[in-house]
Amino acid sequence: MDIVSSGATLRQRLGPLVRRQRFLVPHRRRLHLAPPFLLDDYVPRYQTLSSRDTARKRSLAYAHLRNCNLCPRMCGVNRYQTTGTCLIGDKAKVNVIAPHFGEEACIQGHNGSGAVFMSGCNLRCIFCQNFDIAHQRNGMDLTPEELGDWYVKLQEVGNVHNINIVTPEHVVPQVALSILHARDHGLRVPIVYNTSSFDSLASLELMDGLVDIYLADFKVWESSTSKRLLKADDYAATARESIRAMQAQVGDLCFTGDGIAKKGVLVRHLVMPGKAAEGAEIMRFLATEISTDCFVNIMEQYHPDAHVGKKNRGGPRGSQNGEVRYADLNRAVSGEEVSSIRRAAMDAGLWRFNEPPQHGGFAM
Ligand code: SF4
Repeated sequence: MDIVSSGATLRQRLGPLVRRQRFLVPHRRRLHLAPPFLLDDYVPRYQTLSSRDTARKRSLAYAHLRNCNLCPRMCGVNRYQTTGTCLIGDKAKVNVIAPHFGEEACIQGHNGSGAVFMSGCNLRCIFCQNFDIAHQRNGMDLTPEELGDWYVKLQEVGNVHNINIVTPEHVVPQVALSILHARDHGLRVPIVYNTSSFDSLASLELMDGLVDIYLADFKVWESSTSKRLLKADDYAATARESIRAMQAQVGDLCFTGDGIAKKGVLVRHLVMPGKAAEGAEIMRFLATEISTDCFVNIMEQYHPDAHVGKKNRGGPRGSQNGEVRYADLNRAVSGEEVSSIRRAAMDAGLWRFNEPPQHGGFAM
């Protein structure tokens, strides 16, 4: 006898089940690799772009290069003739191209992520953990076509799981053109846009349909902190708007059965000394305004770098008392700072965290 034909009301028949579920609901199933986050197969978004959208993106990319307001710095320069705050002209300057094993396990997999480290940046973080690449113009100038050829080489020779464009915010037109070129020359792996989240809506619109995974930092929450440490007044407001747009494009992070991420948003937060309260605000924002299923990496590897800990140029001449710049940031973060942000994240309802491997071995 089924439920409907038994004569009992649905509520009467389901009563015991409903009561039991009251106990089950708080213990929600916690599986990253299960529906709805599991994909049977995946075709990168750039493969399904129409010829009309392709032509529109090409023409927009060239137009942006001639009058660049593509990031919140809004320089308005012609990048064929000069440079703006990012110091990069019409050609992307690339520092390193190689399979990379320093990313999350679901991004790097067994074969590595095909990393393309862009030189230059539109932020000026005084603690930059990539100072020699992002703050200095080191590398080779590549046309979009040369860049796209490198993506195909990474796929064919390196057998990488994706193309991971690191710090792309200031070279979005060049990156858009390079992806379209690579697609026409056989690229088949997903594109990872590895960003500080200091993007504009215009650049994210240009990336829509080309990017599969947004690997997005959310660095600090208070505008006074971003002004002092990132040299950007409105970083958090920009990051909030950007991550909302990314989520609208690709949604929560999804995987194929091999555990490799193929599509969605992964948010990183680097825990900063003395800034645990800001980290907690960021977690609450992600849970309430992005998704409680947002995949989050709370990173504890901060180390003093760039300008932090350098001798204070404004200090007393010949000072012997060890005065350094940004002394409050001149230490590693504590376990308690990391745990308090994790607790705030869980209290807010987040549950999909990037976990370090428990076996002490290879991170996959
Ligand atoms: S991408 Fe560079 S030139 Fe364009 S607005 Fe940003 S900082 Fe200025």
